[in-house]
Amino acid sequence: MSSRIHSFAGYQAAYQKSVKDPEGFWDEIAQTFTWRQPWDKVLDWNFEEPRVKWFVNGKLNITENCLDRHLKTRGNKLALIWEPNDPKERFVRYTYRELHEKVCQFANVLRNNGVKKGDRVCIYMPMIPELAFSVLACARVGAVHSVIFAGFSANSMADRIKDAEASVVLTSDGLNRGAKQIPVKRVVDEALEDCPSVKKVIVVDRLGWAVKMLPGRDVYLHEELQKVEKNCEAEEMDSEDMLFILYTSGSTGKPKGVVHTCGGYMVYTDYTFRNVFQYDESDIYWCTADIGWITGHSYLLYGPLLAGATTVMFEGVPTFPDPGRFWQVIDKHSVNIFYTAPTAIRSLMAAGLDHVLSYSLDSLKVLGSVGEPINEEAWHWYHIHVGKERCPVVDTWWQTETSGIMISSLAGVTPMKPSHAGQPLPGVQPILVDQNGEEITENETEGYLCMKFPWPGIIRTTYGDHERCRLSYFSTYKNLYFTGDGARRDENGLYRIIGRVDDVINVSGHRFGTAEIENAINQNRHIVESAVVGYPHAIKGQGIYAFVICADQAPANPENLRAEVIETVVEHIGKIAKPDKIQIVSGLPKTRSGKIMRRILRKVAEGDTTNLGDTSTLLDPLVVDEIIQGAL
Ligand code: ATP
Ligand code: MG
Repeated sequence: MSSRIHSFAGYQAAYQKSVKDPEGFWDEIAQTFTWRQPWDKVLDWNFEEPRVKWFVNGKLNITENCLDRHLKTRGNKLALIWEPNDPKERFVRYTYRELHEKVCQFANVLRNNGVKKGDRVCIYMPMIPELAFSVLACARVGAVHSVIFAGFSANSMADRIKDAEASVVLTSDGLNRGAKQIPVKRVVDEALEDCPSVKKVIVVDRLGWAVKMLPGRDVYLHEELQKVEKNCEAEEMDSEDMLFILYTSGSTGKPKGVVHTCGGYMVYTDYTFRNVFQYDESDIYWCTADIGWITGHSYLLYGPLLAGATTVMFEGVPTFPDPGRFWQVIDKHSVNIFYTAPTAIRSLMAAGLDHVLSYSLDSLKVLGSVGEPINEEAWHWYHIHVGKERCPVVDTWWQTETSGIMISSLAGVTPMKPSHAGQPLPGVQPILVDQNGEEITENETEGYLCMKFPWPGIIRTTYGDHERCRLSYFSTYKNLYFTGDGARRDENGLYRIIGRVDDVINVSGHRFGTAEIENAINQNRHIVESAVVGYPHAIKGQGIYAFVICADQAPANPENLRAEVIETVVEHIGKIAKPDKIQIVSGLPKTRSGKIMRRILRKVAEGDTTNLGDTSTLLDPLVVDEIIQGAL
């Protein structure tokens, strides 16, 4: 049985069913997986505690669903294509049979090194095949993985390791990122000075460096692999056993350890993957996200492998050796479905069209975007120059906490509209509420985006602190999951994400999402990127402060540029949204996943930079100093 939707009518029918009888709906979908033991009850929930359990008492191992069950029919099909940082290095491909073996061997190494079901394992590794193996190996032995993007500082890593009380760290000697090589093991050593829970460190030899190995604690993966067998019995897990912890990227505050569990996560990522991307058996699929983010977990690894797809994993960066790299990789591996982030699209857009036009991109069928609102200009560029106006663009709205896509069009099946994520997926029941938590039922309105019913991939807790989970997501509005985002619903019920509620600016009683104003500013030909925040304004309540990055050919006179930007905003939105202050900057403070840390900009705009809060997830802390210096 296939749970893929093929038509708009099919979507409507599935959606209706999922609302009328959510349990029956997900029960049927869950039957398509391999379970050791079926569930007694589909769902048990209340949003008050909160307590959510899906497929209660079901037993399974997610890796048996990602790997073992494909061996009979897809054993020789490619599971993973690994594209190295340097295009001159040979790429590597693994069939499902080979990937299965790699994961089993790695799992045996974990067991040999004392890892047991329930133990937390921290993975700090570059985008090399061993990262994929290691995540799945943890799942195979029932260990809870906590992947930390291998770009975080020693301090950020130490915080996360301590929070999770991880006993083992999986890492590499170093990593390649574009033209640079970065010492990874050294960062781990520094982090571990302060992490007594860690007993073992398993090191992958990526660069052949002679790194310092602490006797008794540090071992090399290749040496450990010599000691193990090829078979590895998977641990039997309960549906609600923890599968992983993932710390959110931190654009709004102290990172939270979001917990997801085995059964619901499996069902949800597979279902959303197949439907949003309209995946076909022969498709080559590429998600450019790092496995260190939820997108990499759900849509590079688990979702595609559950569906038996061929998934591409890329070690490098979009601009190395030149800004044509993404397009080159698409042609090289005949990628059919491509999923990336607006920040990457904007940077490649700024690099000029020539880089795209030298590739055919004929294989592409579907394009995806995730992570932040995609501004209209970037959407059109992506649609026209990458997708050649032939490929639907899915703008997928979701969060670390939701584990999978929630609002998005289904490629080519449901309506797509630039700067709108679209309609909710079957099983997803969004509502907009006003300040008092009252539901807004009309269309063409905006409000706070909440969910009124659980879906299988919903956050279960924040690790070690259930109350924090309740307070963050379930206490703002009674009996609702609050996303923290604001949204607008158009006349056809399509959702447009305005941005984080904290980012809404209220100018003389008019409410603007930061994304909306940025969208307008970015239409100015001199502006490459912008970020706006509100600041206290004596008359208007809040004023608009814009930080803008200029293209090279920007006018020499900043006053002219400011006047032009204001004109652009007036033209696209109106006088009321005119920025009060425009600061020209060379960069914006971004998290390592490419999102703007607006709370820092807000502090700058307010003129209070004494306490910037946790900035450990910033990509380049130096830009903050520059911005503070140039504050208006
Ligand atoms: P933190 O919660 O730690 O501050 P974060 O919210 O950036 O970090 P993620 O879970 O990776 O961490 O991101 C989810 C958020 O990203 C959403 O709540 C939303 O604000 C934004 N987002 C993701 N996808 C989209 C999209 N397609 N359109 C608009 N916004 C999006
Ligand atoms: Mg968030």
